[in-house]
Amino acid sequence: TAPAVGPTLSGSARAAELRAEVTERAAASTERGVTPRLAVVVATEDESTGWYVRSLARAAGKTGVACDTVQLPTDARPALLRDTLTGLSEDPGVHGIILQTPLPPGSVAADLAGAIAPEKDVDGANPLSLGRLVAGLPAFAPATAEAVMQLLDAHAVPLSGRTVAVVGRSTVVGKPLAHLLLDRDATVTVCHSRTAELASVTRRMDVVVAAAGRPGLITAEHVRDGAVVVDVGTNATEDGALVGDVAAEEVGRKAALSPVPGGVGPITTALLLRHTVSAAAVASGH
Ligand code: NAD
Repeated sequence: TAPAVGPTLSGSARAAELRAEVTERAAASTERGVTPRLAVVVATEDESTGWYVRSLARAAGKTGVACDTVQLPTDARPALLRDTLTGLSEDPGVHGIILQTPLPPGSVAADLAGAIAPEKDVDGANPLSLGRLVAGLPAFAPATAEAVMQLLDAHAVPLSGRTVAVVGRSTVVGKPLAHLLLDRDATVTVCHSRTAELASVTRRMDVVVAAAGRPGLITAEHVRDGAVVVDVGTNATEDGALVGDVAAEEVGRKAALSPVPGGVGPITTALLLRHTVSAAAVASGH
């Protein structure tokens, strides 16, 4: 007989709802003469980035959001990247801008993202956006961090007073997510590559979010029975498949786990499109 498997925290249904909302709002905007447009700046040939950008462009196409991939050379200098972002920031036909990582050596994402106009910063990459988020002011949150919250809410996972471990402290995922969780009254522990005894920390938690980019990092030993585990990791395997940071089979036997693909990812892309439609609405005075 098959082993007992915990519930699967799919992101598909929530992503579909968000895409339906985006489709409706994008059509209304286009009718008013403004087609929401997203520009994705890419300066890498990294496999998992390519996978991500293609899935974003596909989702944009389905919802009526225009999506331009601006491909720069993999040895692009910081000045070229900055000029590109500044040009897009000044272009009234562009409403959302994303700077895709990894970047060429010598370029620092947090530095360059300062060239993305905050009102077009649909992935919350400009340090001003993160500062505003932490201060409780309106700003676009990084889409992946917001997607984790949406996934938890879609499955009615309670957060107030609960313990949550965020594994990963990057500026794009771990740090903003920790703040979004704090805003919902969770007790948050942020773990990272120097955390001692990771398993003994995460095993005590009601919710574990894995955002480290390390396949197989979170095993059954890291998770208590009945916990909720959200897998943010997107790691390309050698044969072109996509895996998360969680050893899905063994963890899925004792916890409710979000799948990769099909968990956080589709919600993330839908949120980037939602942010773009919102940015277009503000830009056109709606
Ligand atoms: P990053 O490399 O910038 O940061 C990784 C973080 O994980 C660091 O803070 C590091 O301290 C921590 N870490 C690394 N190894 C660890 C270990 N052994 N134990 C504990 N912590 C460890 O990565 P990132 O940009 O934050 O992305 C994290 C993952 O999320 C990647 O797999 C990335 O592809 C994925 N991601 C997914 C989406 C999505 O939409 N699903 C979006 C963005 C990023």
